[in-house]
Formats: sequence, C-alpha cells, structure tokens
Amino acid sequence: MTGLGAQGKLETVTFLLPAGTGILELMTTGAEPRVESACPEKANLLNEYDTAAAEFSRTVTVLNRRMGIMSREDYVRILRFSEQARIRSEQARLALERHVNEHGC
Ligand SMILES: [Zn+2]
Repeated sequence: MTGLGAQGKLETVTFLLPAGTGILELMTTGAEPRVESACPEKANLLNEYDTAAAEFSRTVTVLNRRMGIMSREDYVRILRFSEQARIRSEQARLALERHVNEHGC
C-alpha cells in the first residue's frame, strides 16, 4: 500500500484540504468583510457572479411567494426570466472559473 498511486492520491487530498482548513472554516472566512483583491479582473467577475446569482435568487423568491396569486401568464413569464437569470449566473461562474484557471490568481 505504499505504491506511487496511493502516495499521489494522498498528496492530492493534502493539497485540497490543508491541515485545519475545513470547508466550514473557509465559509466562515468568506463571510468576513471583503479585502482588496490582488486581481481586479477576478474581483469584477466575482461581482458579476454575485449580482447574477442574487438576481436569480430574487426571481425564485417571487415565484415562491406569488405562486397561486398571480396569473398563469405572469407565472410563466417570470419562470422564463428566472431561467435566463440562472443561465447568466452560470455563465458568470464559468467566466470566473476560466479566468482563475488561465490567470492562476
Ligand atoms: Zn486574475
């Protein structure tokens, strides 16, 4: 059990999860006030993702609260708008991911 494969896997796990850095810890850190980013483009893309995701979330909230109150026509219209917002959010996430991979920031 000391082959290169096992060793490589162990190294990957260690890289992904440095000692004492759990996902909850990362999320707690993320909730702290934003610090100035070293890469302005990354900050821009993150802001875009944040905006698009918030917009999608808002449309879902409207659908949830107005379900049964608004007309079927309005419901379908907002549902379509929601889908567009979801796609914009996904595109923003992919753009951010692509930039981070290419730029290494
Ligand atoms: Zn960058």
